[in-house]
Amino acid sequence: MPDIMFKKNDEITLTIEDLSDDGSGIGKSDGFIFFVKNTLPGDAIRAKVMKVTKSYGFARLEEIITPSSGRCRALCKVSEKCGGCSLQNFKYEEQLKFKYNKVRNDLIRIGGYPEEEIEKKLKPAVGMDNPYRYRNKAQYPVRIGKDGKPHAGFFAGHTHSVIETDDCLIEPEINASLLNAVISWMNKNHVKAYDEESGKGLVRHVLIRHGFKSGDCQVNLVINGNKIPDEIGLINALKDVMSDGLKSVTLCPNTRKDNVILGDSYREIYGDGYITDILVGITFKISPLSFYQVNPVQTEKLYVLAKEYAGLSGEEEVLDLYCGIGTISLMMASSAAHVTGVEIINRAIKDAKENAKINNIPNADFITGAAEDIIQTMLPGHDDKSGSSKKRRKPDVVVVDPPRKGCASSCIDAILTLAPSRVVYISCNPSTLARDLKIFRDGGYELIEATPVDLFSHSHHVETVVLMSKNFERPGNFVQIGIDAEDYYRIKDSKKE
Ligand code: SAH
Repeated sequence: MPDIMFKKNDEITLTIEDLSDDGSGIGKSDGFIFFVKNTLPGDAIRAKVMKVTKSYGFARLEEIITPSSGRCRALCKVSEKCGGCSLQNFKYEEQLKFKYNKVRNDLIRIGGYPEEEIEKKLKPAVGMDNPYRYRNKAQYPVRIGKDGKPHAGFFAGHTHSVIETDDCLIEPEINASLLNAVISWMNKNHVKAYDEESGKGLVRHVLIRHGFKSGDCQVNLVINGNKIPDEIGLINALKDVMSDGLKSVTLCPNTRKDNVILGDSYREIYGDGYITDILVGITFKISPLSFYQVNPVQTEKLYVLAKEYAGLSGEEEVLDLYCGIGTISLMMASSAAHVTGVEIINRAIKDAKENAKINNIPNADFITGAAEDIIQTMLPGHDDKSGSSKKRRKPDVVVVDPPRKGCASSCIDAILTLAPSRVVYISCNPSTLARDLKIFRDGGYELIEATPVDLFSHSHHVETVVLMSKNFERPGNFVQIGIDAEDYYRIKDSKKE
């Protein structure tokens, strides 16, 4: 219990120390934790208490008394209102340091690792040379504006009001023209934007995906129905913007009343539904509903590290859980004896198999199903009722790349039973990563090295790749980044001073 009981409208002063999972600043007043939006670590602020619970409260920023030394001017005009880039007014170097610290603190607090161990093993966050225009995928809500006409933009952080913007600095410049083409086609054909309250109106979202290396572009219209008027008019308007690059236009029906963006299926109205892109030298076909990493420049760095961590010599059996369209499996296949990818979305597995074929990769198999279920069928003594004559070898290396909620504990238990010599964990959520690493450690796996890779510059999201090992022998081709994070940040800081 705090010494002082806070109540609504109390004025408080505090210094922001950290950021929460949704990007709000976290600071303490008289030892009591408050979340304050639009603040950054290092800001000394005055705020008004909005709501108090037993163990924490929410406050509204009234004044920044002393700005954080990490503050800078955001290049984007709407960055404070829009939910996407909550860190754009934080110097990029500070963003990387914040992400490093987030992983560090979670591994110590949640994972229970000793501080000295983490400081030795957690490497500096790998940043971008140019942290703008990096996203290959964007999803824009389309809603009715005050003028009664359709508008596209972004949702303001945690609300459903659309912030209009003519350009988003982390997305390709051409997206603004593609959106304009959709809006002009809507105006010309009197197509209504979706209205969440009444559930009426046709166009809900415009999704745009680019293959940065291939130059391909895909536009996917999420609609509250099954068809649109003047399909040809829409295609031509988009082609006028991108004559060569436009490879796919699809419609994705979604008549649900909730805020799930995508429907379950799609229909091509132009092209065959795919775009291609090249990542780590492999060509990938990507369909509109499949997961594909949004920052290809950093994804290559992440995958190269993951492969280094896997320490492959050409002899290994690799199990790639949560494999999506098979990106990591196919990249590892050239240095392994065999790879098995497992993924819950059937469409993504179809893409993965197709991707193995077009790249002539014969030693990768893919299975549709939940990782936690499929892995049970790989345990010793499992009675294979599927009739499959293929006997799978026990994996030497297991790669996991789960969604934000992390791995199911039954999945980790099964990995522990399979006892691969190395586990490479790729995570987009440091707190579930830390929770899961603790289970691996208790199961006999030592943390060898971890590296945050900045896949989501200007947002508070953090990606990390981790190598764990049982009876670790450092493989010959394992290269350390070479400098400890502690030294790295100390050197950078001393250069600034
Ligand atoms: N490794 C891939 C995809 C990672 S994203 C890449 O780098 O591109 C996480 C993936 O896990 C998604 O494709 C999602 O569909 C899948 N997924 C979610 N829950 C799952 C589960 N229980 N079992 C298997 N796959 C799952």
